[in-house]
Amino acid sequence: MTEGQWDRSRYDAILVGGGLANQLIAWRLTDRRPDLRLAIVERGPELGGNHTWSFHATDISPAQSRWIEPLVTYSWDRQEVRFPGQPDRVLGTGYRSVLSDKLAAAVREHCANLAVLTNASAEDVRPDRVTLADGTVLSAPLVIDGRGALREQPLALAFQKFYGLEIETETPHGETHPVIMDATVAQADGYRFVYTLPMTANRILVEDTYYSEDPGFEADVLERRTRAYADLKGWRIAKVVRQEQGILPISLAGDIDRHWATLGRELPRAGLRAWLFHATTGYSVPYAARLADRIATARELTSASIAAVVEAESRAVWSEQAYMRLINRLLFVGAKPSERVAVMARFYRLGEPLIQRFYAGQLTLADKARILSGRPPIPISRGLRVIAPERAWDFVAGRPALTSDLG
Ligand SMILES: Cc1cc2nc3c(=O)[nH]c(=O)nc-3n(C[C@H](O)[C@H](O)[C@H](O)COP(=O)(O)OP(=O)(O)OC[C@H]3O[C@@H](n4cnc5c(N)ncnc54)[C@H](O)[C@@H]3O)c2cc1C
Repeated sequence: MTEGQWDRSRYDAILVGGGLANQLIAWRLTDRRPDLRLAIVERGPELGGNHTWSFHATDISPAQSRWIEPLVTYSWDRQEVRFPGQPDRVLGTGYRSVLSDKLAAAVREHCANLAVLTNASAEDVRPDRVTLADGTVLSAPLVIDGRGALREQPLALAFQKFYGLEIETETPHGETHPVIMDATVAQADGYRFVYTLPMTANRILVEDTYYSEDPGFEADVLERRTRAYADLKGWRIAKVVRQEQGILPISLAGDIDRHWATLGRELPRAGLRAWLFHATTGYSVPYAARLADRIATARELTSASIAAVVEAESRAVWSEQAYMRLINRLLFVGAKPSERVAVMARFYRLGEPLIQRFYAGQLTLADKARILSGRPPIPISRGLRVIAPERAWDFVAGRPALTSDLG
């Protein structure tokens, strides 16, 4: 069959869920194998939803930076953190943001052989076919399920939750780089900080953010606080351009064997569904980029072989992050909510290369020892009690079930 005449229900690969992970996979498969006929199935009206996906420049390798560069909407060469009682700290680590609408447009343009099916809910997803809500059946030797985090999973979680407004200010706001944590604000609901990304001289994203054990979310309260912060900074809002909110998973402990045994080994997963996220931030851009590279360079593109690639990647990330989960237990289980800001402030007094390696998930043994050395911000007896992952399960036991999707 010549191009343009092929059967529109048969593909070489079907990506279920048009979110971050599957869009990067489509991008990389197109780069490496432009001949492949790909389909991406998204239940929403457009790929990607409504997100600002950010990452530290040092989270990804130079090779990944090269291919991600065209997808980056905003780029800064430094970032800042602010804590009460210590000098504001500007870090010379670059920061990058990918806007979901820009990513969707770039993917549509770049992936010439990609059929984009939006407003298409996948009802039945199998290793060789996908049935949509309207009864359409699509088939392919490779199907990847990237429909976001599962509601029920064997993870003991805390949460990073936030509410953000992208605003246009009446006069220039005066910020030149991201302030990824301004923790000088009043503390509430665990560890609270405001995150700001200056996009242009008059446009800035302001996000009221919490590290909390409670996934509950009162959007109107957070919106008021976000507006109050803008007010405090003297930013008069000319226009709200966009609103975004999220509840990201912070893992304290989990059972990866049970996760993969429950999911089964025939259908490959991607993104949060495959537990590919940073344990302490819930961020997933670097992991999504790495998985996209692994899949695009795989020798065989079948569900069985890619399922093995994904599971290996997921398990590698899980073991790399055992230490991050310990830190999370110290922050959430060991520290009282009111002590969390001191734990974070102490972390940000460490050397910049160590901080970079922390976010990149590449801590050395010396880094791990360094983070825990010195005068602890919480009593040692409490710290020792949370070394065992089991303590995390006690901590989350009895908590009400999640009422909204993670991610
Ligand atoms: C507002 C927000 C901001 C975030 N900011 C950052 C950040 O700055 N940096 C970072 O690294 N991480 C960030 N995250 C966290 C994480 O990286 C994102 O959640 C990321 O989008 C996860 O990627 P994913 O591909 O696993 O899932 P998603 O991007 O959520 O994609 C899943 C897709 O599947 C679709 N879907 C679900 N069910 C079906 C179905 N039955 N049929 C068809 N489609 C379906 C959904 O509509 C969705 O589009 C953010 C999360 C949120 C919510």
